[in-house]
Amino acid sequence: MAAEILSARGIDVTIYERKPSVGRKFLMAGRGGLNLTHSEDIEPFIQKYQDRADYLGPIIRGFPPQALRDWCEGLGEKTFIGTSGRVFPETFKASPLLRAWIKRLEHQGVRFMLNHEWGGWDGHELIFNTAKGQTKITPDATLLALGGASWPRLGSDGTWVNILQKENVKIAALQPANCGFCVDWSDVFSKKFVGQPLKTITASFLGHKIHGEIMIAAKGIEGGPVYALSSYLREEINKAGAASLLLDLKPDFTLEGLTDRLKKPRARKSLTNFLRSAVNLSDVAVGLLMECPDRAALGDYPAEKLALLIKHYPLNLRGTFPIDRAISTAGGVMFDSLNENLMLVDKHGVFVAGEMLDWDAPTGGYLLQGCMATGVRAAHGIMSWLNLK
Ligand SMILES: Cc1cc2nc3c(=O)[nH]c(=O)nc-3n(C[C@H](O)[C@H](O)[C@H](O)COP(=O)(O)OP(=O)(O)OC[C@H]3O[C@@H](n4cnc5c(N)ncnc54)[C@H](O)[C@@H]3O)c2cc1C
Repeated sequence: MAAEILSARGIDVTIYERKPSVGRKFLMAGRGGLNLTHSEDIEPFIQKYQDRADYLGPIIRGFPPQALRDWCEGLGEKTFIGTSGRVFPETFKASPLLRAWIKRLEHQGVRFMLNHEWGGWDGHELIFNTAKGQTKITPDATLLALGGASWPRLGSDGTWVNILQKENVKIAALQPANCGFCVDWSDVFSKKFVGQPLKTITASFLGHKIHGEIMIAAKGIEGGPVYALSSYLREEINKAGAASLLLDLKPDFTLEGLTDRLKKPRARKSLTNFLRSAVNLSDVAVGLLMECPDRAALGDYPAEKLALLIKHYPLNLRGTFPIDRAISTAGGVMFDSLNENLMLVDKHGVFVAGEMLDWDAPTGGYLLQGCMATGVRAAHGIMSWLNLK
């Protein structure tokens, strides 16, 4: 995004990329439908950046969601708003957009130096490692947009942390964001339910409630509501070593309504069959109830207590999934190491944008919007820096 703005102003731009092609994570983001941005009003949109909203607010206002949609449409990819308010290109894919984008950049004179891995500085020179050895360059300005540390095989692995720390840049530890969480399933539960969705539940934590579907994974849980609550859950685990996610397994029933249903005579039905027939609880949800530490006594629970467990099921999460499986990365270059144009205050002429900055946001289009908007801000910062020089 920065290369596009700068090259359109006649500035000579070269993109260095360690992989044999650019935009691999962007392409991966398009695999399940490229969620470019979100259509909600700008204020609630900005609040999605939580305690970084103060920094990102002005940057997002400088390149708001509509500007990102216009940009996408300018590249020949019409956008639409999905039922959840999320914005996608009509094709859902990232590949046509990336192809058109690269063509535009090449047309504007941007050079791509692929298979060039940035390895830090030698004085004022940038060092790149290539198959043919090292090369060094001294640009008038540098933008670092090296991504976070999730899905490292796509190119972003966070190895820049060591390089920047040596330059005294303040970095918040990289951590998984929009990630799954570890749960100790019993063998019985894993064998039966791994890979299955726990549908129409409400997950809540610290007063934040998200409705949706959770996927049962071999070592825990994944899915929309889990990702949306991931920053709060991760912080709790960092502090306390575990977090208790509350699940409402029957959100369409009130506690009273559910209790009444559970007061029906069980006849000779097993508890599992009774739960299926009386309240239409899914097999996965029943399986989950059977995972509770008190499972041996569940059959003797009075209706009130059983209903309470179904409406407030505490799922013990004991860690995050590893960062290499996360959708995004929290932590990164701290904003107090940067000026308002995203230039390192102790390394003039070096700018930072995208996921390597210390911000975090839920899925829903906020990640790409944040990356693109910081790219735009850095491009404008580079232009004023070059004029000042
Ligand atoms: C499965 C998945 C689905 C996603 N879906 C969405 C979505 O629908 N909507 C959304 O908003 N976000 C989504 N995201 C997140 C989004 O893709 C990222 O936030 C975004 O791509 C980050 O952009 P970036 O430019 O900061 O970093 P990246 O896209 O990671 O790009 C950084 C580039 O720098 C290169 N690089 C790194 N280190 C070096 C080095 N030392 N030398 C040279 N090159 C280097 C990397 O190879 C990479 O190409 C998804 C992510 C994943 C993993």
